Amino acid sequence: MVPSGNYLPSLFIYSAPVSAAGGRSIVLLLLAVVACAGVIWIAFLLWEGSAVARSSDAVGRLLALNEQSKERLRALPPLTIRRTQEFGTKRSYDSADLLALLRQVLLEDEKAIEQEINRRLIPLQSYAVYDREFVALMSFSVGRSSHRRIRPDRFVHIERKIAERRRLPVPVAQADVSFIARYTSPRGRNSYARRLPLSFDQLRYQLNEARRARAELGTVAAARKRERGLMTASMRLSILVRDGSRCQICGISAEHGATLHIDHIHPVSLGGRTEPSNLQTLCDSCNLAKGARVLPR
Ligand SMILES: [Zn+2]
Repeated sequence: MVPSGNYLPSLFIYSAPVSAAGGRSIVLLLLAVVACAGVIWIAFLLWEGSAVARSSDAVGRLLALNEQSKERLRALPPLTIRRTQEFGTKRSYDSADLLALLRQVLLEDEKAIEQEINRRLIPLQSYAVYDREFVALMSFSVGRSSHRRIRPDRFVHIERKIAERRRLPVPVAQADVSFIARYTSPRGRNSYARRLPLSFDQLRYQLNEARRARAELGTVAAARKRERGLMTASMRLSILVRDGSRCQICGISAEHGATLHIDHIHPVSLGGRTEPSNLQTLCDSCNLAKGARVLPR
């Protein structure tokens, strides 16, 4: 009667109100069943979780451990150091070694900074103790208790999950260090700033480096002082006699009006020792010429 193009749509239109209503209610029914099952399932999981938590020896012990440890494991607020260094000229600003300046700043306050660093490391050390206790607790107490309505393997599985969730987090030592170098041109036309931020670990590292460098400088300075102290009057005399009171470079002698010096062949500043094999007699001008060559300044 009608082209097939119209046939299907008309069938669809006529049957739609009936079967769509039936289909919708079936879908709704199924959805309701699934939703109910879901709700029951979630309620069951919640019941199961709290049943395990209540009857688990391991969870009970962990909660007690957490309670007695949590204060010690609390991370302190970040160690805050802020310093701004103003530079008078663009040139000094450009050539400034920010890291060296920062190390200087750290050394000025080293006792206080070290104290603050150590305070922030204590929770981490306490955590090592807590962690050992946690592991021991897991291996000795998990599976020791049970619940008459829950399968033992399921009980242990849930016990472990609860314990992992309740395990206290590792405390993080933090620092908020910001070292800023700044230069503002006359009349404030241009402003430049360089910033050097440091994390807690970087701060620790830089403080240690600053101390190491200072200690090294101390030993070098002490060695120089010691070597210079060894240069006694009798040592001078013995070298002069050995060298025949002549400059060992140009050969001029005191009789010709030269002022003679006892020179360290390998300079003390570079680790040279005060001993006859490292000493020589030099005249003023040879000594000056050598000094300029060895220590270019
Ligand atoms: Zn000479």
